[in-house]
Amino acid sequence: SFVLYQDQFIERNQAKVDIEDRGYQFGDGIYEAMIVYSSHIFLLEPHMKRLERSAHELNLNLPYSMDHLTRNIKRLVEINHLTDGIVYFQITRGAAPRQHYFPENTSSVVTGSVVHKERSAAQGTRGIKAVLADDIRWLRCDIKTLNLLGNVLAKQKAHEEGAGEAILHREDTVTEGSSSNVFIVQNGELVTHPADHFILNGITRLFVLDLARRLTIPVHERTFTIDELMNADEVFITGTSNEVNPVLEINGHLINGGTPGSIERKLIEAFNAEVEWIRAL
Ligand code: PMP
Repeated sequence: SFVLYQDQFIERNQAKVDIEDRGYQFGDGIYEAMIVYSSHIFLLEPHMKRLERSAHELNLNLPYSMDHLTRNIKRLVEINHLTDGIVYFQITRGAAPRQHYFPENTSSVVTGSVVHKERSAAQGTRGIKAVLADDIRWLRCDIKTLNLLGNVLAKQKAHEEGAGEAILHREDTVTEGSSSNVFIVQNGELVTHPADHFILNGITRLFVLDLARRLTIPVHERTFTIDELMNADEVFITGTSNEVNPVLEINGHLINGGTPGSIERKLIEAFNAEVEWIRAL
């Protein structure tokens, strides 16, 4: 398979990263992961906009124009004949002798790769168990950085407990999943954490908010508590590969009797329709 390295497409086993790359030493970089349906990158523009914002928030120089970067990501999908799967890319602040402050004479390093994955495989995992985990991350979770240890530790906890996701909370407030956004349904209305510094503003989150409005399901972007989570009519997560995924059990407590609820089914149906529409392009 081919990977993107800076401006070039090279064989995966030919790619080399400098051991003093700041992505490697500090997690000093940003990334995006996008899903591909029938060779079309889903929601490409909002992902690229978010990347631009992440770069801006970290004073990270983009080595190529956004247009150029976007063309290379599309080319990466083509060159690998990726029809269905994930395209991932990251930009680090580059390689320099190790010191915390930004190096002066270094340029950013872009790398990208793809993973082939049938969508039906993802759909087969609809409905997951979750566990609660303390949100121990920093206070700029809105930036999509390579620093994912807080997320990794939470996901590992979920994995060890046989769950598919860890739902994070700061004190009593539910923030998001370790790699997803969290929604609850109360009396037919959607509630999800507002897009502030405590969560990543998921592209799927935004898409689902849009779907909900189209379906005239009321939405509230406000914080909610663990108690509201556990007593919700429905709970689901959203994310690039998860799409809309019902949470059927949290810490052993069943949600909606352990089956997907009617709002979830409506959103999944609308999501499926969108994917079918894209496939037909
Ligand atoms: N929150 C976190 C912490 C994530 O890592 C992700 C997935 N990258 C999301 C939310 C969902 O974002 P998106 O819908 O853009 O995949």
